[in-house]
Amino acid sequence: MFRTITDTRLNDLHFKHDESSGLKGIIAIHDTSRGPALGGCRFISYQTTDEAIQDAVRLAKAMSYKAALAGLDQGGGKSVVMAPEGDFDREALFKAFGRFVNELGGRYITAMDCGRFTEDMDTIATETAHVTCTTAMGDPAPYTAQGVFGSIKAFVAACKDLPDSLEGVTVAVQGLGHVGYALCQLLHQAKARLVVADIAQDKVDQCCKAFNAEAVSPEDIHKVNCDVFSPCGLGGILNNKTIQVLKCRVVAGSANNQFADPDSGLSLHRQAILYAPDYLVNAGGLIFASLRHVGESDKVIRKRIDGIGETLTQLFKRQAQSGEPISLITDRMAETILYGNDQGRMTA
Ligand code: NAD
Repeated sequence: MFRTITDTRLNDLHFKHDESSGLKGIIAIHDTSRGPALGGCRFISYQTTDEAIQDAVRLAKAMSYKAALAGLDQGGGKSVVMAPEGDFDREALFKAFGRFVNELGGRYITAMDCGRFTEDMDTIATETAHVTCTTAMGDPAPYTAQGVFGSIKAFVAACKDLPDSLEGVTVAVQGLGHVGYALCQLLHQAKARLVVADIAQDKVDQCCKAFNAEAVSPEDIHKVNCDVFSPCGLGGILNNKTIQVLKCRVVAGSANNQFADPDSGLSLHRQAILYAPDYLVNAGGLIFASLRHVGESDKVIRKRIDGIGETLTQLFKRQAQSGEPISLITDRMAETILYGNDQGRMTA
């Protein structure tokens, strides 16, 4: 465990077992040098505690990078509640988690992640003030979608052989959940052509009807001949096999941890496919959670999210100079902000 902590430069790791509710929770605080750590709480089943720890630590690190690049006065953290087997009292579980968060005195602020609903955040809010994404605050997904949309526009503008606008540009969207659906709406308004897939047929039908999208099977969506492939489902979609069959110019989606193989960034670069790390492209949700938590207006939040596309445009310039993969340049930029001087910072 200490090896993982050292390798990821994690600040601290907290565990809680609450017998009466059955809570088994982990909070990983990666970095607080820029402010309190902010990040979602994942509520899924894990085979082992070790797997849950690895997930929390890896995601906490990505949150530090995400907050740093977004120019937020916020550190990176993530938490995990291991989903209990069999029946359990959801309210008691999240109340216990809220008390766990509160014990850390604001070093960690919790937010939404997989397996959670805004109602769960409301339950947590009965025990601690260090919580975002409550019903009163709203859903971060439309803000995440805005950032992905801005990224797609910046990517398309960087491809000289594609049109200046998104009109007629083909985007294949994988996953039509909270973010994917909102993204399709924005793309449709911009007159892009949509190809979509989801494992839930009702979501596909809804999207085809509302946005004149073409449906393909979930197994085939990454093989679609398109300009942009947008993974908005689960992570781990980009591996050495799927990258081989991509027929797109750009990969830009909201899914967290899109790389299944560590050298996926290099593979994409070798195939001349433009890609930027998910922690930059999907930062809209974090920007929303961070700024809404301190009472910022919607106008200010939306403007900050537009900064994601601007950051990408600057990254393309750096890539043109150095020839390195954008994923490498972005990692280095985030590390410069976190550990070095502030020269890597690009957002307004
Ligand atoms: P969601 O659960 O609402 O939607 C995910 C969708 O993907 C679901 O409709 C699901 O049926 C579909 N899906 C799952 N496996 C699939 C497969 N193999 N093929 C096709 N579709 C599949 O989640 P969301 O909130 O829309 O988030 C989507 C992704 O973006 C996640 O990886 C999440 O971690 C990430 N993300 C979300 C936010 C946010 O604000 N919600 C912010 C940052 C990152």
